[in-house]
Amino acid sequence: MSPAIQALLLLQDRDKRLRGMIEDLERIPKDETRAKERLAGDQAAVKNARDTLMANEVDIKKVELDAATRRTTILRLKTQQFETRKNDEYQALGHEIVRYDKDVDLLETKELELMEKADALRTALAAAEQALAKTKQRVDEELAMLAERRKRVEGEAADLRLERERLAAAVPEEQLPLYERLLKNKNGIAVVPAIGGKCSGCHIKLVTSTMVRVNSGLDGVQCESCGRLLYGED
Ligand SMILES: [Zn+2]
Repeated sequence: MSPAIQALLLLQDRDKRLRGMIEDLERIPKDETRAKERLAGDQAAVKNARDTLMANEVDIKKVELDAATRRTTILRLKTQQFETRKNDEYQALGHEIVRYDKDVDLLETKELELMEKADALRTALAAAEQALAKTKQRVDEELAMLAERRKRVEGEAADLRLERERLAAAVPEEQLPLYERLLKNKNGIAVVPAIGGKCSGCHIKLVTSTMVRVNSGLDGVQCESCGRLLYGED
């Protein structure tokens, strides 16, 4: 294998690794978004639990107010009853008082039910908040891991770029542009061995004259089908 091919193969190896690192770095923001999205469901559940509890509190206040209004009415009716001298009016007021007393009883029962419901809703809210806290902890850990990975890969990529520049300097100058172009257009594989008379990049049979040049160890021999740089098996 010629020194030029050796240099190109080293370069190709580093370029491949560099490509992997760049892909890895490009994936990180997507992973971060996905991690954060996992919080949304739990956040919505907490909001829902809190809203339900608050609506229930409003209902309790309303029932309390209704009962208070009726108690005031009962007091007023009792005063009227005390002041009247007419027997039928006295009895009519008495019926009204009984009716309002029943209302108050019903409202008190309703309030107790709502307060029991509030207990259950508070428990549900606490559970939702706990679930959110757990998810948040996991998400924070994942985000920290991703930040760590970004830092590490960026460092490794920077080192690799320097090494790549050193290796590129060892490639014959006239072959470098062709290599770069093939790397870009041929999915990161620019230099391939000719195996069994075929280009191992595109797997198409090479013409005899090409194989002769490859076997003579010439540099810059290209596959006539895909254009990749070829080298012979030693
Ligand atoms: Zn080919």
